[in-house]
Amino acid sequence: MEMSSEIYDCIVIGAGIQGSAGQKQFVLPHSRGSSHGQTRVIRKTYEEDFYVQMMQESYELWAQLEREAGNGEGFSHLKATMQRHKIPTVFLEKQEFSQHIPNVNLTDGNGALIDTHAGVLYADRALRAVQVNKIWLQTSLLKAPFTLSREYGHFLVKINVCYWKEKIPGTYSVGQRFPCFIEMESKEGEYDIYGLPSNEYPGLMKVSDRRDTEPDERDKQTDRGDIDILVRYVTRCLPGLVPVPAVVESCMYMVTPDRNFVLDSHSTYGNTIIGAGFSGHGLKFGPIIGKLLSQLAMGQVPSYDLSPFRIQRFMPDRHFESKSIQ
Ligand SMILES: Cc1cc2nc3c(=O)[nH]c(=O)nc-3n(C[C@H](O)[C@H](O)[C@H](O)COP(=O)(O)OP(=O)(O)OC[C@H]3O[C@@H](n4cnc5c(N)ncnc54)[C@H](O)[C@@H]3O)c2cc1C
Repeated sequence: MEMSSEIYDCIVIGAGIQGSAGQKQFVLPHSRGSSHGQTRVIRKTYEEDFYVQMMQESYELWAQLEREAGNGEGFSHLKATMQRHKIPTVFLEKQEFSQHIPNVNLTDGNGALIDTHAGVLYADRALRAVQVNKIWLQTSLLKAPFTLSREYGHFLVKINVCYWKEKIPGTYSVGQRFPCFIEMESKEGEYDIYGLPSNEYPGLMKVSDRRDTEPDERDKQTDRGDIDILVRYVTRCLPGLVPVPAVVESCMYMVTPDRNFVLDSHSTYGNTIIGAGFSGHGLKFGPIIGKLLSQLAMGQVPSYDLSPFRIQRFMPDRHFESKSIQ
């Protein structure tokens, strides 16, 4: 790479949602990272106080970005939903659930926690909006000063994002107010299964799970075990879908042992700020992560307590609890 003699106050490496939100710039998204594709789940339902507090502000910052970008159908839907519902979450037993959300076979004995603030976050539009004020263009691959290592229990996850055809178009659509969902502890598989209403591809609903992988194995997959899990799940729970995926797209993300992010300074190179390990649920936090990373980079006091996100927590004797992702 050609060396530059120019001096910068701050250089952002990596132009996914987090790098772009930290310092708006211009590059196209690509499918080797995590921020491409059209949609993500956005929600406030987290067990940890710190995520709920961060999401309060994240919603405000997404709304501000929507106003600045001047184009935000998805965000308008979210706002309308928030206005319609006074109570943030509602628990529905199986019977009530079917009355409110038809065409889903909930497992016997299960209920559903409805986050009335949750919805679809248009990831591709969000990334474009964040990147729209180009500051500089950088396409070089820089030597990473930090890697999240398997030594501390980090692992890579491959997602086969599957789209399933509706037998009757619109059954599970945004127009019908069909919700995003996360099925925890499904009968079919080890990991959570999540879905988003049909929207980005007309007549196709996104329902996916995940599998652990190695980066170089991503394009060589012959084992279809994860897709078979989804076929069984769709057959049992979503009878309005054809139980064969119409489109399969694969992508990857890094998962930390406790599923919490890394937002910290490098222990040796203190002027290097690290935002990583978003563990498959980071996009909804984009504006607030960008703000926190730029505060760290500029030597300001971060607006949130960053102790849950310190690198130091990945010491071999620490115990980590697993939790839901998306
Ligand atoms: C299938 C899938 C579904 C998801 N669903 C949800 C969801 O429902 N809700 C939610 O909130 N989140 C979700 N996520 C997670 C969310 O998308 C990620 O947390 C977020 O996009 C991470 O953004 P990032 O900027 O950290 O990473 P990335 O988008 O991967 O961006 C990092 C960038 O850095 C570049 N880069 C890497 N190394 C170097 C280097 N050495 N030099 C220069 N550039 C470099 C890469 O090329 C890339 O462009 C999902 C992720 C996936 C893959």
